Amino acid sequence: MRAWWGTLTAVLVAIGLAISATTPPAPRDPQHSEGLFNLPRAMGDVNRIASAPHPTGSAENARVRDYILNQMKAIGMQVATREGRLDEKATRRLNKWSGRDDPPARLVNLVGLLPGKDPAAPAVLLMAHHDSVWGSPGASDDTAGVASALEVARQIGARGTPQRSLILLITDGEELGLQGAAAFFSDDPLIPRIGAVINMEARGGGGRTSLFETSPGNGQAVELYRKAATWPAASSLATFIYSVLPNDTDLSEALHGPWVSYNFAFIGRPGLYHSPKATPANLDQGALMDMGWQVSELTQALIAAPELPQKAPDVTFFDLFGLVLVTYPSSLGWAMLAIAALALGLAVSRERNLRALGSGAGRTVGLMAAGALLLYALNRFSGAGAGANYYDRLAAIPMLEAMAALVVIASFLLVLGKGLSGPARQAGAVLPLLVIGLAMQVLAPTAAYVAVVPVTLAALAIAARAYLPPLAGMLVAIGLAAPALGYLIALGHQLMQGVGPDLPSVAALPLALGAAMLVPLWPGVSHRQARQFGIALLVLALGVSLWVRMDPIADTVALYSLKPR
Ligand SMILES: [Zn+2]
Repeated sequence: MRAWWGTLTAVLVAIGLAISATTPPAPRDPQHSEGLFNLPRAMGDVNRIASAPHPTGSAENARVRDYILNQMKAIGMQVATREGRLDEKATRRLNKWSGRDDPPARLVNLVGLLPGKDPAAPAVLLMAHHDSVWGSPGASDDTAGVASALEVARQIGARGTPQRSLILLITDGEELGLQGAAAFFSDDPLIPRIGAVINMEARGGGGRTSLFETSPGNGQAVELYRKAATWPAASSLATFIYSVLPNDTDLSEALHGPWVSYNFAFIGRPGLYHSPKATPANLDQGALMDMGWQVSELTQALIAAPELPQKAPDVTFFDLFGLVLVTYPSSLGWAMLAIAALALGLAVSRERNLRALGSGAGRTVGLMAAGALLLYALNRFSGAGAGANYYDRLAAIPMLEAMAALVVIASFLLVLGKGLSGPARQAGAVLPLLVIGLAMQVLAPTAAYVAVVPVTLAALAIAARAYLPPLAGMLVAIGLAAPALGYLIALGHQLMQGVGPDLPSVAALPLALGAAMLVPLWPGVSHRQARQFGIALLVLALGVSLWVRMDPIADTVALYSLKPR
């Protein structure tokens, strides 16, 4: 009998969990979020600051700086400006934007200090940049960060003198190469007073705000965030990926100080990055609420902490659907791998069929190869590669995600649609992923959970199906598959948003892990049905890819990216 209810239940619950994981918390009534994060007041700041583009050195930038300084004074902060000059490279970039040949512009960092009760206690520093790129109002990048910093300072100021001092550092020249942050962190007199740094950024205009980077040695820092955040969004996979990518934010200049550092950003609505359409009206207010709420809770926890977090060994961490932050020492991955190997061994000993084991393993390798190759090919066909407009490719991410989703389902149907019968074949399907988990555990222990946890759950599900009565085995397999699949769907979305236009093939990993979770539930369709549906979905994916290739350049792209070279 073909029992589809198991697959259907697991997939539907998984989709619900994935949506919960990737949706910012709804804005709260400001009356009830007073003391936490007042969104309408923060939007007031966004409307004033991001009414027009305000790149370094412009008259608009001077207006924005005055506004921010006045807000800091109204909070009761001691304010100061720190001036410098842009370096040669930054000056060239600014002149390329303006089409002029100006001398190096003045660089103006803004500093606000709210003194704490104990002047000797290390201070908490909130950082964001006040400059925008040329031609973009910058409502998200980085007005959302500036507005969050101001609103958090307002709340802390409204409660009387805080336990330890709060510093706001609103930098200049970030878009020209971290100029303001580099100047501040090279020799500012406030440096000896810093005990923790929080930076806020955006690469897009919406989505969940996540803790995507920390200073090395984050054990205690992550533990404090875990306790503080109501709706955490964070992962040590993101911090690992970010540490090996060449990308930079202002925090790069602060990472090597003796203090702990946190970096928050949102990357949804990617077409709005550096866009002329990055206006206050187009900013996702949920993303601002999410940023302000998390940073408010973290800042208040740091201000109140008797001792600030110190450097301690890195830990594995990830949020479960935005509901709770899971943290554990990365060495625990070894225990999970042992459990996975044991469960797979038990499943195989039920059948003792080495050929079936090998055939299952071959399927998973084939699935990953087919998925990665198809994603690469269709992405190239959609216009990726040298000469593509970077911002146009970002704007295409939602379409590229649709293409990737079709490819993922099609690959599953074509390679595994018939289903894998018997515990040996099913265990074989997990085997290559166990090897990947092992390799990650050795090479990147804080990132390894992304393979190790699903592999362990898949192995347990297969063992449960092999040894328990059918209904009980099915229920266990559904209970394990639904959360794992939900996590993997959300992960696929985050990977496509983060690196999709360049490296869509990375989605082959969540594809293979998700398939391993479905294998013990999937009743199988006929060879013909699998082929027909699979090919139909691939044709659709090709159509989406062709659409992205043919459609005109997005009207959101950064203006300077259109200038003739
Ligand atoms: Zn920025």
